[in-house]
Amino acid sequence: MMDKISIKRLEVFANHGVLKEERELGQKFYVSCNLYLDIRKAGKTDSLEDTVDYGKVCFRMTRFLTEHVYKLIETAAEELANELLYTIPQITSLDLEIEKPWAPVGLPLETVSVCISRGWHEAYIALGSNLGDKEAYLKHGIQSMEQSKDFRVKSVSSFLTTRPYGMKEQDNFLNGCMKVETLLMPEELLDFLQGVERSVNRVRQGKWGPRTLDLDILFYDDIIMDADNLKIPHVDLQNRDFVLEPLKQIAPNYYHPVLHETISRLAEKVPGEPTIVK
Ligand code: ATP
Ligand code: CA
Ligand code: CA
Repeated sequence: MMDKISIKRLEVFANHGVLKEERELGQKFYVSCNLYLDIRKAGKTDSLEDTVDYGKVCFRMTRFLTEHVYKLIETAAEELANELLYTIPQITSLDLEIEKPWAPVGLPLETVSVCISRGWHEAYIALGSNLGDKEAYLKHGIQSMEQSKDFRVKSVSSFLTTRPYGMKEQDNFLNGCMKVETLLMPEELLDFLQGVERSVNRVRQGKWGPRTLDLDILFYDDIIMDADNLKIPHVDLQNRDFVLEPLKQIAPNYYHPVLHETISRLAEKVPGEPTIVK
């Protein structure tokens, strides 16, 4: 259970609403949040630098909600959550509530509100290329995440040259793995990665065929999911030395939530011929 800092019912006068009157006249909102972070160090040092300054957070939330105008408090909350997570690195996740006590419903009510929980998630991604300037394609994949506010790239493995897996009559691959933190949900992460693949003109030439760039989700937190278009953990990673070897460099002790073994252990017992060339 993570430590938290709570702010309850900060009052902000702002102009969010669907109705013209709401946008012109403005109204009162209450903002509450739980910020989850590690407070242990500040508890020991008694130093403001080791925690999040809740005064500054209050000013930041007030400024954000008065400088922007949204029709929906859903959107106001979503954007405000992003703002806090983008700009205050210590916060790992948060709950945010926006109340609208004067909501023009035409019936007596105390308040309406939306409450959301958002945060950084840990994901491991496999990169592969076997067409054209393979290294440049892998680097492009990494850069596309480095340049997005929704990602923090935590570590990147070295790149390994490997023989093709499955469909053998094609050029060697260059493979690597990376660890990221992301604000995207699993489906959104898949969409993002497929967008990056499309941006380098990846054309699908059959299963396991040649490609400029392939980005697969290996793990996402410790979730287990089995949707038609997205399976996490990646279903075949335990059979692939070209995934497990680079992954072992950055996460040897990561525990596979389905197979109940560490990456190091899985890497020791990959079935079949090794594919790694160098
Ligand atoms: P493999 O997944 O066996 O490595 P591949 O990467 O060559 O094969 P693609 O053609 O890139 O396969 O992707 C086929 C589909 O796999 C994608 O459209 C996507 O919906 C689905 N998919 C399922 N699970 C994942 C995952 N964990 N990461 C990426 N794509 C996934
Ligand atoms: Ca793949
Ligand atoms: Ca893929």
